[in-house]
Amino acid sequence: RKAYELDAGFSHQNAGGKIPLGLKRKGLRILVTGGAGFVGSHLVDRLIARGDSVIVVDNFFTGSKENLLHHFGDPKFELIRHDVVEPILLEVDQIYHLACPASPTNVMGTLNMLGLAKRIGARFLLTSTSEVYGDPLQHPQVETYWGNVNPIGVRSCYDEGKRTAETLTMDYHRGLNLEVRIARIFNTYGPRMCIDDGRVVSNFVAQALRKKPLTVYGDGKQTRSFQYVSDLVEGLMRLMEGDHIGPFNLGNPGEFTMLELAKVVQDTIDPNAQIEFRPNTEDDPHKRKPDISKAKRLLGWQPNVSLKEGLPLMVNDFRQRIFGDESDHTS
Ligand code: NAD
Ligand code: UDP
Ligand code: UDP
Repeated sequence: RKAYELDAGFSHQNAGGKIPLGLKRKGLRILVTGGAGFVGSHLVDRLIARGDSVIVVDNFFTGSKENLLHHFGDPKFELIRHDVVEPILLEVDQIYHLACPASPTNVMGTLNMLGLAKRIGARFLLTSTSEVYGDPLQHPQVETYWGNVNPIGVRSCYDEGKRTAETLTMDYHRGLNLEVRIARIFNTYGPRMCIDDGRVVSNFVAQALRKKPLTVYGDGKQTRSFQYVSDLVEGLMRLMEGDHIGPFNLGNPGEFTMLELAKVVQDTIDPNAQIEFRPNTEDDPHKRKPDISKAKRLLGWQPNVSLKEGLPLMVNDFRQRIFGDESDHTS
């Protein structure tokens, strides 16, 4: 591998991990699957800014080229339209595996990317999810908690798919000595999030901007902890560069009921926005909040952006995408 060159006495670019002191980073070759998506595209921005060469593999199932347009023409950037369910041959140093809409992809896509990592000796990072904890009986959730997941429920395709992906990742690590990292990501929001993906933050923000009632499911007392995307990307990069496999919870411990979230959205966008109650979905987790002591201790990471600070940044982006140039005249 030629990712690092000898340069004694200069190592500030050394982010830690396997890079010996005295070796200067020359720029890594990094694969980001799902790099055209919400989180992936922000990660790509950071990696390119750091000087790495980035290959994005994406089938544009939920992501879009728009999220990456600003990198087109950069020789250090390459975009490949490909479904990770199909095998692929590439040469890279690190793999951030984000591609995933549903369980079949979690399993087949993860298997292929692990096979790829094994063949080329790349370090592999899986973006798992707080959903592996299911409807948790422990609160807040610590990484040692095994979770409470309904294996035959409406959400289990995603939950069990990610649990299987974690299992495969650890098996490749134990059996084949592959270098792996596992992040359990808690609810994340920010610019470039899909406008109509049905998630609560994107729903409330789009609804408030369109002067429609905010749809609160159930009694609105269920909780989630919302993390701003730049905090997540920082955590993913520290995890990849560090010495620890994980799993690590990456999330913001600030916990909100859905009614409290609706209030923050009202305060940020429109104090007169109405609230409309709707029946909740099946198997909806009652509460969720990360214990991030492990990430603090071993990655030196913690989120910096509160919901009240981060939400307006997302609102600007949504306003732009929903109303286009109109917003320049109305705001
Ligand atoms: P996203 O839908 O915006 O991004 C996923 C990307 O993967 C999209 O660009 C999509 O087109 C691509 N993709 C999907 N299936 C593919 C396939 N078979 N082959 C190639 N590309 C494919 O979602 P996101 O919010 O950016 O999530 C990124 C990762 O983080 C996912 O693995 C997700 O499970 C995990 N995660 C996200 C959150 C969150 O709150 N955003 C929370 C927990 C875990
Ligand atoms: N794979 C891939 N690219 C590679 C190497 C492997 O997509 O460069 C796929 C391969 O097609 C297989 C999966 O990864 O479906 C697992 O590969 P591995 O070699 O671990 O398992 P095996 O093929 O021996 O069952
Ligand atoms: N939710 C809501 N209104 C919406 C969308 C979701 O009240 O318009 C609730 C949903 O029932 C859940 C919470 O918000 O309790 C988070 O849902 P989301 O799908 O965003 O994330 P996840 O359930 O995967 O954590």
